[in-house]
Amino acid sequence: MIITTNPYTQKKIQQYSFLKDEELNLKLNTAQKSYKNWKNTSFKEREQLGIKLKELMLSRKESLANLISTEMGKPITQCLAEVVKTSTLVDYFTSNTANFLKNIDLDENTYVSYHPTGAVFGIMPWNFPLWQVFRYAFPNIIAGNVCLLKHAPNVTGCAIAIQQLFEDAGYPKHVFTNLIIDIPQVEQVIAHNVVQGVCLTGSTKAGSSVAALAGKYLKKSVLELGGTDASIIMEDADFDTALTSAFDSRTANSGQVCIAAKRIFVPKNKLEYAIAFFKQKIADLKQGNPLEESTQIGPISKAEFLPILQNQVEKTIKNGAELIVGGKIKEPFYETTLLVVNKENSMLKEEIFGPVICVIPYENTDTLIEEVNNSEYGLGTAIWTKNIGKAKSLAEKIEAGYVSINFKVTSDPKFPFGGIKKSGYGKELGEHGLKTFLNAKTNTIA
Ligand code: NDP
Repeated sequence: MIITTNPYTQKKIQQYSFLKDEELNLKLNTAQKSYKNWKNTSFKEREQLGIKLKELMLSRKESLANLISTEMGKPITQCLAEVVKTSTLVDYFTSNTANFLKNIDLDENTYVSYHPTGAVFGIMPWNFPLWQVFRYAFPNIIAGNVCLLKHAPNVTGCAIAIQQLFEDAGYPKHVFTNLIIDIPQVEQVIAHNVVQGVCLTGSTKAGSSVAALAGKYLKKSVLELGGTDASIIMEDADFDTALTSAFDSRTANSGQVCIAAKRIFVPKNKLEYAIAFFKQKIADLKQGNPLEESTQIGPISKAEFLPILQNQVEKTIKNGAELIVGGKIKEPFYETTLLVVNKENSMLKEEIFGPVICVIPYENTDTLIEEVNNSEYGLGTAIWTKNIGKAKSLAEKIEAGYVSINFKVTSDPKFPFGGIKKSGYGKELGEHGLKTFLNAKTNTIA
């Protein structure tokens, strides 16, 4: 049984029963039948549905944003931005997939053609309940695959609303299927013949379990896991712009973002300036009811994360960090916290999923890249400098799936997104992501 709770009011929203194993099997078999029809639809038909889906999503913008905010506590303005951004993803793949999937000539007798393979099973988290689902699902669906979803239990209402969006836009039933299932039932889904791919966004622990299951049944997998992204602010950077961007990155969605700037490197001689800047920003930040438009920072999405955050902050301080502001639970919030962290602090290697700003002073740019790469994660890094040549040469050495220069690390429908090391493997989005679960067939003529 799933009970969803509003993290701000702490009041119950809804309860849902898990599918019984027989019911799950029926849904999987139905998805298989649906795939056989869907893969044979014309691209024109899929394109028309994509256009309708985008329009419908935008027409439901307020209600979707409201649902996201109520279930996981994100400030309403950020929820609205998530819906709009998701609609741009639908638009991008509706407009570009035909071109991406053209045959590629290898020589005069040989070409590669792209074909759907079956169902892609997404196991998704709660922090961007709409965006993350569409990120794996929409490119696959427009390319002829069908999709199955196991969403995070606390956003079950969002999962149901997503299936409803597909159905109301006119997609045949079971092109997108939401499955209300418990962890032990994940294996039953991965094992089914229709499933040809698995995408998980979430913790490294969940990723590792799901990758093992995907391996057992020889299903391809893509994992989008956590991160300890660095933001490197160089001596010659436009400081206020860089600090503002790092602050926004770290406090958006109450700090619960995989690509947040979790380690902010500043030159030692600018440390006092950075501290004063962040203190003022924190003082100006409006924490409160996520449904109010003026709210900039909401509650932590799951109450059980509060003591985990507290423990992580205390350990960081015990290991030598200096607490400047915050550092306490203020239920249902975690105070926006500012820490000056010593570069040797082992907590810099842990993902802290909350509004905890870690500023790391550095003296020597020669060892900086080594410090940035001193992480088991490798999702993204931002570099701030006026010297683009220098930034590009640093970017070469950074162990991450994404480097942004003078811009915060952000996902975009056009660009492949995904990390390395314990941040996972494989890409979503862009042409690269679109082709992950397609069969690139070599056709050769004697
Ligand atoms: P999880 O990784 O546990 O949950 C993400 C999704 O994976 C959920 O649907 C969850 O379902 C599912 N899941 C978890 N374990 C398994 C498993 N063994 N087999 C199959 N599916 C599984 O994240 P949490 O919500 O517990 O957050 C824990 C930490 O993970 C956060 O503090 C943060 O550090 C990180 N995280 C990172 C995210 C990112 O964007 N990279 C997003 C969310 C979390 P269920 O809830 O039913 O277990």
